[in-house]
Amino acid sequence: MHEDPAPLPYDLLVVGSANADLVVGVERRPAPGETVLGSDLVVHPGGKGANQAVAAARLGARTALLARVGDDAHGRLLLDSQREAGVDTGGILVGGAPTGVALITVDPSGDNSIVVSPGANARLTPEDIRAAAPLFAAARVVSVQLEIPLATVAETARVLAPGTRLVLNPSPPAPLPDGVLAACDPLVVNEHEARSILGEAAGPAPQDWAAALLAQGPRSVVVTLGAEGALVADSRTGGHVRVPSPKVHAVDTTGAGDAFTAALAWRLGLGEPLAEATAFAVRVGAAAVTREGAQASFPTAGEVAAP
Ligand code: ADP
Repeated sequence: MHEDPAPLPYDLLVVGSANADLVVGVERRPAPGETVLGSDLVVHPGGKGANQAVAAARLGARTALLARVGDDAHGRLLLDSQREAGVDTGGILVGGAPTGVALITVDPSGDNSIVVSPGANARLTPEDIRAAAPLFAAARVVSVQLEIPLATVAETARVLAPGTRLVLNPSPPAPLPDGVLAACDPLVVNEHEARSILGEAAGPAPQDWAAALLAQGPRSVVVTLGAEGALVADSRTGGHVRVPSPKVHAVDTTGAGDAFTAALAWRLGLGEPLAEATAFAVRVGAAAVTREGAQASFPTAGEVAAP
């Protein structure tokens, strides 16, 4: 039986980053001091917050994004791409610094070098979080990642009303402020993030990581395992559940984790149990890897494989 909560304006509030990804193909990535010629520039909307919001909205979730962009062309690209996906952009703050950018060079083998300029993302402040109280009151689930200041993530965890669920993907991994881990339900990690939080304490298998992460305070943990799907561990029920991914032909895994986490957060907000929501999320992640790009690869509900 699912809960039947009174409707709120949004299924999901995403708090996070918005970047313009500037991509140039090169024959060879430049050595220090060297200049190389590359392909025409391609600019994509990205950033984990923006990606998650687009992924959720494309699935049909009523989604709002709280983020900061610059008053510039990249900021307008991000606002347009959010609007086009159906995200409510009223919470996107404009100004204070240039829009965050990722400068990406990719060589023919697919290896890349990336420089990130956080720009406006670094200016999303704890005060911005407090000023967005009406948005927080309008969603039952809040999803956050670590491409914004850690103090802002901590404030996000702090302002949540009882009963509002926090989903955290700690990417890029960083030591978390007090209180954040304990507020997560779930903490969503891939192998790299699990290992970087646990360090030496990481055991050999995903169920060991989940148990060790649960011991650090979150109420539940979801470990994503690429083509292997995901593993769910919940402190309320004990033990763990493996959730296999459908077999697909993967062409580009960029953004798969963002699509997964957005889908999971949305379904949790609809009242689905964690294992069921994860079973949906792996199908969304699997669909996303069958297409090139990040936001461009995110499926609509109709494009997600039946269970
Ligand atoms: P990240 O993108 O953060 O590294 P993963 O690689 O674990 O995270 O992928 C997230 C989710 O995307 C997985 O749990 C799975 O559902 C899906 N996925 C990723 N790679 C594949 C793949 N090769 N085949 C099927 N599903 C995949």
